[in-house]
Amino acid sequence: AARILDGKKLAETVRAEVREGVAAFKAKYGRAPGLEVVLVGDDPASQVYTRNKEKASNEVGMQGRLHVLPASTPEDEVLALVERLNADDNVDGILVQLPLPKSINEQRVLDAVDPAKDVDGFHPVNAGLLAAGRPRLVPCTPLGCMRLLALAEVPLKGARAVVVGRSNIVGKPVAQLLLAEHATVTIAHSRTKDLAAVCREADVLVAAVGKAELVRGDFVKPGAVVIDVGINRVDAGNGKTKLVGDVAYAEAAEIASAITPVPGGVGPMTIAYLLQNTLTAAHARAAR
Ligand code: NAD
Repeated sequence: AARILDGKKLAETVRAEVREGVAAFKAKYGRAPGLEVVLVGDDPASQVYTRNKEKASNEVGMQGRLHVLPASTPEDEVLALVERLNADDNVDGILVQLPLPKSINEQRVLDAVDPAKDVDGFHPVNAGLLAAGRPRLVPCTPLGCMRLLALAEVPLKGARAVVVGRSNIVGKPVAQLLLAEHATVTIAHSRTKDLAAVCREADVLVAAVGKAELVRGDFVKPGAVVIDVGINRVDAGNGKTKLVGDVAYAEAAEIASAITPVPGGVGPMTIAYLLQNTLTAAHARAAR
């Protein structure tokens, strides 16, 4: 059976690293790194995510703050808040929680964030720097995936890696990071022909699709390392719901050498790397 890559435990380690880094930053610069989280609207999942981000940042000694704006807030006002945070020297990280209400142009708001404070790594300048092999602020979930691969101690140099999903948030940046580690990377997506055969080539298989248990056991090469980014809420059969990944876990765990569970795999790593990115941004800003 596969080794279970415990993201919950590893995230604790990352948070402890960040906590130490924050203490050193404070000692050096006399202030805490600042993270500002912006939530527009009342989406229940987003409310939970943003509160958790605020709480997690304060737990490691940062100055974390959550701004909650009503769903009816005009785009101009959201942009004005972003500009104010851009101009505030005590703010190191700005995170705009997605999705934004339909009345607001998401791209315009994300593009307004100062790239030096873009702790989500979604700004085109940061995406471009990553693609150019000069990473600065890199998306949190892909960083978490790479740390889980480090835990698995899988050699990446020359390995065949397949990433299923080509989003700007997960698929593309994780493929870039794997490429930077000298893996031979394939990006599969919704138009990929014979996905199962493509996946079976993979020594490292990353699933970031958003389709419950799309990746079956017979997609997995024996001994492969499987990173499951997907978070899908499905009917548990007893009138309740449960979370499952993009990988059919029980099947894949029979064949893989190591695999991340859902929940408790990639999910907790994302917040941990948001904190790490905030510290990284704070250092880069303080040093200039
Ligand atoms: P997305 O919807 O932006 O992208 C999904 C990608 O999957 C697309 O590129 C699409 O081409 C591909 N795809 C869709 N159907 C496919 C199919 N049948 N076969 C192959 N490829 C297919 O999603 P995203 O933002 O990249 O997120 C993917 C999943 O990861 C979601 O379940 C999301 O909830 C989860 N997620 C988890 C975390 C975390 O912290 N664990 C963070 C971000 C996203």
